[in-house]
Amino acid sequence: MCGVLGIVGNADVFRDLYQGLLAIQHRGQDSAGIITYDGRFHTKKGNGLVQDIFTVENVQRLTGNIGIGHTRYPTIGGGRGEDAQPFQVNSPFGIIMAHNGNVVNYKELKKELFEKYHRLLNSENDVEVILNVFAQELAAQRIKAVQPHHVFKAVEGVYKKVKGSYSVVAYIAEQGIVAFRDPYGIKPLTYGTRNDGLQPSYAFASESVSLNIMGFTQIRNVEAGEALYLDHKRHLHSKKIADCPHTPCLFEWVYFARPDSFIDDVNVYLCRVNLGRFLAEEIKRHKLKIDVVVPVPDSARDAAIEIARILNLKYREALVKNRYIGRTFIMPADKKRKSLVRQKLNPIASEFKGKNVLLVDDSIVRGNTSRAIVELVRECGAEKVYFASYSPALRFPCVYGIDMQTKTEFVARDADDDQIAKKIGADKVIYQTLDNLKAAVRLGNPKITNFCAACFDGTYPTGDVTPDILKEIEKERQDAQGKQLELNI
Ligand code: SF4
Repeated sequence: MCGVLGIVGNADVFRDLYQGLLAIQHRGQDSAGIITYDGRFHTKKGNGLVQDIFTVENVQRLTGNIGIGHTRYPTIGGGRGEDAQPFQVNSPFGIIMAHNGNVVNYKELKKELFEKYHRLLNSENDVEVILNVFAQELAAQRIKAVQPHHVFKAVEGVYKKVKGSYSVVAYIAEQGIVAFRDPYGIKPLTYGTRNDGLQPSYAFASESVSLNIMGFTQIRNVEAGEALYLDHKRHLHSKKIADCPHTPCLFEWVYFARPDSFIDDVNVYLCRVNLGRFLAEEIKRHKLKIDVVVPVPDSARDAAIEIARILNLKYREALVKNRYIGRTFIMPADKKRKSLVRQKLNPIASEFKGKNVLLVDDSIVRGNTSRAIVELVRECGAEKVYFASYSPALRFPCVYGIDMQTKTEFVARDADDDQIAKKIGADKVIYQTLDNLKAAVRLGNPKITNFCAACFDGTYPTGDVTPDILKEIEKERQDAQGKQLELNI
């Protein structure tokens, strides 16, 4: 999962890109990059947080009123600096591109691009595959200037070849900016405008919060299977190219997106409050004696407040988070994750001592974080520790871009709720139901009828995820984690 941003403005866009990327930093903390254009491309990218990568010198060097930015969370490929996005090809025209998602048939396409078109891909980043397929599709049309139908034909070619999830922003030098979502619209992509010159500026972003922070007004979401092309005269063209059912990723509302964002018109904050409301009803059924509700900060706070309100219980923010340590789930290597939990969360012991505690978290993935938190709470003298997850149990690998691609990593794999409670050391585990998760999202946008819920129910919406592909992705993930550990030593 990553954050993408593309801007066409009336003045240098570097500062806007910087601000916009800070607003979607939570989508990837591994690396970031910006490429601007003013007749030539200016690039800066590397490993680390946005605020660490870009310097005052970059403000002077990355000039141009057009640019693309990216925050990266590695899925395919390790965490090496050269794999940071955006990527660039010099022909045809010169194209830069960034994406959010995961290409399932990355290896096969990389091989095909080399053998058939003599295109050498120099990184392990799957956007390089999308970029080269798009460039090849455009080159095959042998054109001197790009018209909207050329772009739409090239995107159609991408849809035919590239399997998986991808929300893409690209710029074709001196021609225009392109934004498209994969045929199923698994990853979010939205756009907006700002009136700050003779013509409006346009921005395309993963989350609406980026638009808000930069002073843009959201126009609408890019639809599943739709491509937009903003030409150099700022005329916006759009075409629905694929007609597959829209199946957005449920995990965006659970964990990934910021609460102040709207994902496919559903406010993430309100969705989490509703998830808390539904989970409270589930907790009631267990007739537990609970003294205090404590959220695992930060994402669980909105749901936990609602649970405490409905159950008429005391709510305490008794786990204090060190804000200067990254999200443990997003950290690439498992060992790194484990050691970080204790540095990241410090308990206020008096709020736990002698009490029956209900901990609320957004999810339980591998169980390491949950186990470490339960241990912390017990060390503070809690009598009972109940653990509520406002998402359903995660049991299947995500092949679409979230770092949980190895099925053996799931604590809930082949385990019932009592076994999971035992594994994480809790007295009871209570999960949200999948129906309630879908219902909470639909309360915000009843038009969403389908979802990607593959990590919960094992049904992959793109229909092309075979056991062999799962096995291969799992192996790649393990290799990448190994490489990451080597780099971290
Ligand atoms: S498998 Fe899960 S995390 Fe991955 S895209 Fe689907 S819902 Fe999102």
